[in-house]
Amino acid sequence: MYNVAYVENDSCVADKGCRLCILYCPEADCIRLDTEKMRAFVVIDRCKGCELCAVVCNAAKHEAIIMAPVNAATGEIILGEHKAEVAELGQAYQ
Ligand code: SF4
Ligand code: SF4
Repeated sequence: MYNVAYVENDSCVADKGCRLCILYCPEADCIRLDTEKMRAFVVIDRCKGCELCAVVCNAAKHEAIIMAPVNAATGEIILGEHKAEVAELGQAYQ
């Protein structure tokens, strides 16, 4: 398993004009803007897990991005029980 970024819609403030994660992600077309929901979202199979997006999002006090494991066999992101753990890791950047 490896970790990728995941945007929590309730915390993302892309509707207020934030594009930090999109600007800072080093991978092309990896974080995009959902123009209907006006939230950022991560294209899982393009994410390299570098956490830069989470760092800039946390630095701006939005804390909308968590790093979560992906099942290498299915390509699906695993949320749930890992959520608390990754949230704690994210706080290390504050
Ligand atoms: S940096 Fe955070 S709040 Fe801003 S658009 Fe990205 S996920 Fe949303
Ligand atoms: S973890 Fe890195 S590669 Fe993945 S979305 Fe965030 S900035 Fe982009």
